[in-house]
Amino acid sequence: MQHKSRRQFLTHSAALAAAPLLAGVAGSAIAQAPERKLGVALCGLGSLATNQIAPALLKTRNCRLAGIVTGTPSKAEEWKKKYGIPAKSVYDYQTMNRMADNKDIDIVYVITPNALHLEHTLAAAAAGKHVFCEKPMEISVERCQQMIDAVKKAGRMLSVGYRCQFEPNNLECVRLAKEKVLGDVKIIDANFGFAMGDPTQWRLKRDLAGGGSLMDVGIYCLQTARMLTGEDPIWINASEAKTDAVKFREVDETVMWQSKFPSGVVANSVSTYSANGLAGFRAATTRGWFGLEPAYFYNGNRGRRSDNTEINIPVADQFALELEDFADCIINKKASRVPGEMGLSDVKYLMAIYESIKKGRPVSLA
Ligand code: NAD
Repeated sequence: MQHKSRRQFLTHSAALAAAPLLAGVAGSAIAQAPERKLGVALCGLGSLATNQIAPALLKTRNCRLAGIVTGTPSKAEEWKKKYGIPAKSVYDYQTMNRMADNKDIDIVYVITPNALHLEHTLAAAAAGKHVFCEKPMEISVERCQQMIDAVKKAGRMLSVGYRCQFEPNNLECVRLAKEKVLGDVKIIDANFGFAMGDPTQWRLKRDLAGGGSLMDVGIYCLQTARMLTGEDPIWINASEAKTDAVKFREVDETVMWQSKFPSGVVANSVSTYSANGLAGFRAATTRGWFGLEPAYFYNGNRGRRSDNTEINIPVADQFALELEDFADCIINKKASRVPGEMGLSDVKYLMAIYESIKKGRPVSLA
């Protein structure tokens, strides 16, 4: 699947697409715009940056697209024209340290392949910038820790792009779980996958991706279980399945795992690069159930509860929501809901899943 078709997949549910819903943007915004919008430089102008993040930054009330970091000169020209970015705010990966002199840029948003997040975060921190980093944060716990340390040393903030933590339908489910509206959550079933096309892309290269479907989309299922329980897993058992050993020579194709949480909740998950149609979760409770299908798309996430109530809260742009929140945290010196430490702990649990696969037995995390 080319990036384009991955995007089409994630933006599926056209009838629910954002445009008509702009008026009722859930969770958006605080009444007044601040005096100066924080400047965001996008580092890596690939699919997500081009199709989601740059458009989202046109909708945010407290931050704006102010700069770019790209290794492709033709993209630099295109973006300068399209978004009115001045030449002084255009960098490549080697010159991004010069941002230290650029007062228009407050935040660097790292949107490069997973294993480059460390290098680009270190450069941004050295230039004295706040860092917003895409998921997964990096490909090892040690590398995540280096990112946390560098940003801390620079006296700046680091957050991870967990958009579901700001998506109102996902948050409504967290409320149902917390307030025990349908009783206690007991079992969670969360799955995410897509049929991977282009066999040459970085997502299939271990050095750049760190892993396959688990690192890329399984992380959403892990986040769901952590969000709904408010807990961290204490036990994980996992295995993998491969139907194409050539294409998925370097990374996992399909991973199945179970986790237990301190309260006794059990979560079952599958991540895959071999099939479309898995992008939701269901929580079984003592009195019924609730869930979203889809839960993880860019638009149109919706669901139901066992008491026949629909979950369908309109949201114009979840990326705008997460960026506004990060800018708010910086402006108001508030802790982020999605700090680097959360990104690191998720990578720790992903590594435990791989360890369980490798050892062929459960891994205890208690
Ligand atoms: P992409 O391949 O479309 O873009 C990656 C960008 O990095 C490209 O502009 C590419 O030129 C650049 N790059 C720099 N050095 C590179 C190198 N050595 N090899 C390959 N590319 C290099 O990928 P994407 O889909 O935009 O993903 C980027 C990041 O965003 C990943 O960490 C991914 O997990 C994350 N992502 C998050 C979401 C989300 O919903 N939050 C969705 C998609 C991707």
